[in-house]
Amino acid sequence: MENQLILNGTTVANDVKEKLKVRVEQLLQSGLVPCLATILVGDDPSSETYVRMKGNACKKLGIESKRIHLPEETTTEELLAVIHSLNEDRSVHGILLQHPVPKQIDERKCFEAIDIEKDVDGVTSLGYGQTALGFGMYPSCTPAAIITIMDYYGIDAKGKHVVVVGRSPILGKPVSALLLNRNATVTTCHSYTHNLPEIVALADIVVAAVGKPNFIQGEWLKEGAVVLDAGYNKGNIGDVDYEACLKKASAITPVPGGVGPVTISMLLKHTTEAAEKGLKLRNEKVSQ
Ligand code: NAP
Repeated sequence: MENQLILNGTTVANDVKEKLKVRVEQLLQSGLVPCLATILVGDDPSSETYVRMKGNACKKLGIESKRIHLPEETTTEELLAVIHSLNEDRSVHGILLQHPVPKQIDERKCFEAIDIEKDVDGVTSLGYGQTALGFGMYPSCTPAAIITIMDYYGIDAKGKHVVVVGRSPILGKPVSALLLNRNATVTTCHSYTHNLPEIVALADIVVAAVGKPNFIQGEWLKEGAVVLDAGYNKGNIGDVDYEACLKKASAITPVPGGVGPVTISMLLKHTTEAAEKGLKLRNEKVSQ
């Protein structure tokens, strides 16, 4: 296909961050320092990199980043205790528990322990439920990033058939819900889906959230489909066979430089919003 549009995530992320600068500045002038607490358990090098990138992005914008690094052998109870203390800590506005945690930890239980007001990555079931019902405070950051990219480039999901490949709680399911709320007709596929290539071939918009490098094939796509690749695999490889899909798609996100940078900017946005709420509460208390 000629004249494909490369959906540049770095451009979108810079736009988001530029708009946030003013809001963070206003918070700082009011004497409130927005703060994101990140919890990393264990020594997985990719997770360490993600957490470092998130912390650095916070710092660049003037958001404080409180990094908590727990040992590999941490128990569920120990992690819960850390989350509870962060919930109580008024200087912390957002909490991010880096997924995945070591196997001995009950990850779901720990996600659920995060205060909904500080759940800036939409990992609690309440946060997910609110997102699905269309009034959520903070949807998961990657689904929010996909919607933000679509909005930036004027890609309207209304009435379109969107095929989401993947149904994880932080990605496939919430992005399906967000797109349904945008009046798309959504098909969510998973590892038990039969005839995946035939289903993908019906899509006006394909969202890849599989966790398998180069999984979505160019020959599966309908001519002119929009391709949004949330995948991020070892060696900077997406879930979409980029070169092959580029030939068929009308618009496509690259990896790297697509959904990833926008995901981080969503985390900054949600943390800023949580801090703004903190400031509002503080001002209300002062005026009482
Ligand atoms: P996940 O929890 O492993 O979920 C993968 C999903 O893909 C599951 O729902 C699984 O189905 C489905 N699946 C696996 N094999 C399949 C197949 N052959 N056909 C159809 N569906 C299949 O992964 P995730 O956390 O959602 O992440 C997905 C990708 O996004 C990864 O590459 C990850 O690195 C990336 N990611 C990127 C960002 C970012 O900031 N860019 C953030 C988060 C994740 P079942 O449910 O049946 O097992």
